[in-house]
Amino acid sequence: MPDTPPVFRFAPSPNGLLHLGHALSAVLNHDMAKAANGRFLLRIEDIDQTRCRPEFEAAIFEDLAWLGLDWERPVRRQSEHLDAYASALQRLDMLGVIYPSVMTRGEIKAAVADAEAGGQTWPRDPDGSPLYPGRERELPQTERAALTAGGKAYAWRLDMEKAIALLGKDHLSWAESGHGPEDETGTIIADPAAWGDVILSRSDAPSSYHLSVVVDDALQGITHVVRGRDLYHATSVHRLLQRLLDLPEPLYHHHRLILGPDGRKLSKSNQDTGIAAFRAAGRTAEEIRALIG
Ligand code: GLU
Repeated sequence: MPDTPPVFRFAPSPNGLLHLGHALSAVLNHDMAKAANGRFLLRIEDIDQTRCRPEFEAAIFEDLAWLGLDWERPVRRQSEHLDAYASALQRLDMLGVIYPSVMTRGEIKAAVADAEAGGQTWPRDPDGSPLYPGRERELPQTERAALTAGGKAYAWRLDMEKAIALLGKDHLSWAESGHGPEDETGTIIADPAAWGDVILSRSDAPSSYHLSVVVDDALQGITHVVRGRDLYHATSVHRLLQRLLDLPEPLYHHHRLILGPDGRKLSKSNQDTGIAAFRAAGRTAEEIRALIG
């Protein structure tokens, strides 16, 4: 069998302008691909159509080209592949590991506040959000069907306990060549349970980040996922979905984040560290490379 080249990707969401943190991610992926005689793909993660805008997508292309990066065309745009995510969801449904959930954000907040007022410490996911308090997963099939037929908005969630049970005793891990939040590297044991029943699709967004990222990484033959440390814990969910959907396991490399002067992660709303702002101020792409180290 001929050796297939490694495949890297940079996968921004066009919901704001790229900043120095994105520049680091994009340049790392590009340079690691070049060094390994591999391929470098760009994927536009525009599932959330309420926040994504064509002008931000255009700015992504402009910023990356200005940084001197070159990527394969055509670019995969997630909004054009909703059927791929729908069939993955259907497969999970056939495995019996998803259920429709109807609690709104406000209802979740109130239920958690209630439990905490009663002295209970409600579990939170690695991003700090409370785990889903609803109990629709326990409903019999007929009542579930009524939920989806009722006209009320609902979201499909992964029944985390059932999904983990389905894997049996096999432990779930990934190979990490970068650094986790505690500088972990090597074989990392995944802990998807920490996330609770994650959302896989909802009425206003037909697929979630977790679902579309694993489907696309597989469809595009991604062998190396190089991304920021902020997504390190999400890898646990991605490994679980990959196993449930029989998808190949890429290698992972989580890189350091670039922090702002306040010590916090850069955000897309902070225009000062935007790549376009540096360009407008007359800085060069070489200077940006030096700045991100
Ligand atoms: N679209 C995600 C973001 O912009 C990145 C996804 C990934 O690299 O896995 O944060």
